[in-house]
Amino acid sequence: MKLNEYRKKRNFAATPEPQGAGSAEKKGKSLIYAIQKHMATHLHYDLRLEWRGVLLSWAVPKGPSLDPAVKRLAMQTEDHPVEYADFEGVIPAGQYGAGTVMLWDKGTWQPESADVDASLQAGEIKFTLQGKKLQGSWVLVHTRGFGSNPARSTWLLIKHRDQYASTKDVTQEEPRSVASQRLLAEIARDGGGDIERASMGDPGVKGQRATSAKPARGRIVRRRRSL
Ligand code: MN
Repeated sequence: MKLNEYRKKRNFAATPEPQGAGSAEKKGKSLIYAIQKHMATHLHYDLRLEWRGVLLSWAVPKGPSLDPAVKRLAMQTEDHPVEYADFEGVIPAGQYGAGTVMLWDKGTWQPESADVDASLQAGEIKFTLQGKKLQGSWVLVHTRGFGSNPARSTWLLIKHRDQYASTKDVTQEEPRSVASQRLLAEIARDGGGDIERASMGDPGVKGQRATSAKPARGRIVRRRRSL
């Protein structure tokens, strides 16, 4: 039931994304946490927290910040199947979310208060992450009257002050996949995607390809095709 919106948006004959077997709730097992770096129409980071057999999802345009003084906009999106937490690859042109997806971080999470449903309702979820890149205490706070589309649910993702807080720019300093160590451009290359466009999400000198064999000035050459 909860995956209807997810499935409605996608053509599984055309996209390699998982359809999702179902939403069997696990008992007594740790909950999945994942972040996917997604170079779609715009670059964003999809934060996913397993709850009640699906992945609650938020698109964070600027990605997470380890600095407690920095609040990052997080738009709640449709629930995803738990299998999605392992997805990395290319969503073909013309499909929903077309672009390159990197598994940027993965691990487990714990809600800091037992009743997650009540926290969701109240618009404040405090949680602890045990990922490869992100750890420690975080909060998602629901905000209202922000953004042009009131139908979308707008939240802020904020790091709490703890031993894992820092001013390190984690998205810039740790740009590679935790699953494959690849950059976006390499995932696009391997998956037959748009390397040029994917490379725009990789760090480095603005406009410089992070992984291409060609030097930076190769970027001056026009894109020959986009499919
Ligand atoms: Mn996305």
